[in-house]
Amino acid sequence: MAEVEYDLVVVGGGVLGTFHAYHAHKAGLKVALLEKDHKPQGATVRNFGQVVPSGMNTKWQRYGRKSLRIYKKIQSKLDISVRQEGSIYLASDDEEMQLLEELRQINKDNEYMSILFTKAQCLSRYRGLSPNYVKGGLFFPEEITVEPRVMIARVQHYLRKKGVHIFYSAQVVECLEMARGVTVHVADGRSFMAKKVIICNGSDFKTLYPTVFKESDLEVSKLQMLLTKPQPNFMLPGSILTGLSIRRYEAFAECPSYLAIKNREDDDTPEKKWGVHILFKQTVDGHIILGDSHEYADAERMDDLGFDLNMEIDDLILAKAREIFQLPTYDIAQRWYGLYSQCKSKDIYQNTIERNIHIVTGIGGKGMTGSAGFAREHINQLFNI
Ligand SMILES: Cc1cc2nc3c(=O)[nH]c(=O)nc-3n(C[C@H](O)[C@H](O)[C@H](O)COP(=O)(O)OP(=O)(O)OC[C@H]3O[C@@H](n4cnc5c(N)ncnc54)[C@H](O)[C@@H]3O)c2cc1C
Repeated sequence: MAEVEYDLVVVGGGVLGTFHAYHAHKAGLKVALLEKDHKPQGATVRNFGQVVPSGMNTKWQRYGRKSLRIYKKIQSKLDISVRQEGSIYLASDDEEMQLLEELRQINKDNEYMSILFTKAQCLSRYRGLSPNYVKGGLFFPEEITVEPRVMIARVQHYLRKKGVHIFYSAQVVECLEMARGVTVHVADGRSFMAKKVIICNGSDFKTLYPTVFKESDLEVSKLQMLLTKPQPNFMLPGSILTGLSIRRYEAFAECPSYLAIKNREDDDTPEKKWGVHILFKQTVDGHIILGDSHEYADAERMDDLGFDLNMEIDDLILAKAREIFQLPTYDIAQRWYGLYSQCKSKDIYQNTIERNIHIVTGIGGKGMTGSAGFAREHINQLFNI
């Protein structure tokens, strides 16, 4: 009989799986990470790379603030593309300004630093910002951005050097709980033995446990993104979130005025139809990532989301973005979409399939922000650390 090779096998090399492997390794466990593609291709490499605990509810802000510390700690040892340039929420009317003031008070109570900016301060810090759009802003100086593709590749490289075994092109097709541990079978015939398995499969619901996912309340969201050509002589620091994000993000749902403001909204608008809100982030090489939109389908019907890009959505994102910033160029270099999974009833999906086989996915739109902090607590719980 094969010896137990690993304390933990993590299935899925996105941000959630990678940080589970990271914390398990830190805790002294022998870890393998199995990723089905030759390098990660999921939500983790298709996003903005905004690490914004300020946008999360109180529970996830806690994980997000832990993640900030973890990213910064790793960055102090090796460059994983972390830039601390803060995040700003830009209000476009009095209601959004009211929500910013209330969020500032909530964060003061939570001892999380935020600074209210006047219109003039916003205009002087953010070049190209339209004076017709902005009323004021709320700035979170501790927040960071990462370049998602660089960050995940470098963290995995670091883990490899530290002794975590990472296998790419390793699609896990079966996990079997045996008396002495779990056998993990890969499509190409390889198998691994582990005391525990954690499955962080993102939105792949067809390979492992399809029936379990079919019966869950998981849904998949499709988000459209655009990348401008490099902006000549133009710097847009940090994460820029605007009025529609203020009206959408969980953090603001904790503000006293939120419900009344939501109730006054017109539900029959193109931005509501496509779940559009406007975010900007400049990449290290000068492009600006613009997004995004949200279309939803239940896990078992996710193919209904299609593989094409809806140009009506792109046009809407661009028109709204132009109202907010006059960028040197709105020429588009790339367009793509990403998918993430989320639960309808809970903030994350966790399911212990057998004693030592645990699924964790459905982290929704908060994975780049919350995964590092959440994974640490989850590893500590599962291994009684
Ligand atoms: C367009 C877009 C923009 C976003 N912007 C932000 C942002 O700015 N900030 C933020 O905090 N969050 C953001 N998010 C959310 C964030 O990207 C996700 O929450 C996060 O990446 C989810 O990570 P994950 O590891 O769960 O999933 P994924 O990144 O999808 O990773 C799952 C991995 O598991 C692998 N896998 C699946 N099944 C198997 C199997 N059987 N065997 C082996 N491997 C398998 C897949 O190949 C994949 O690599 C955004 C998401 C999208 C789509």
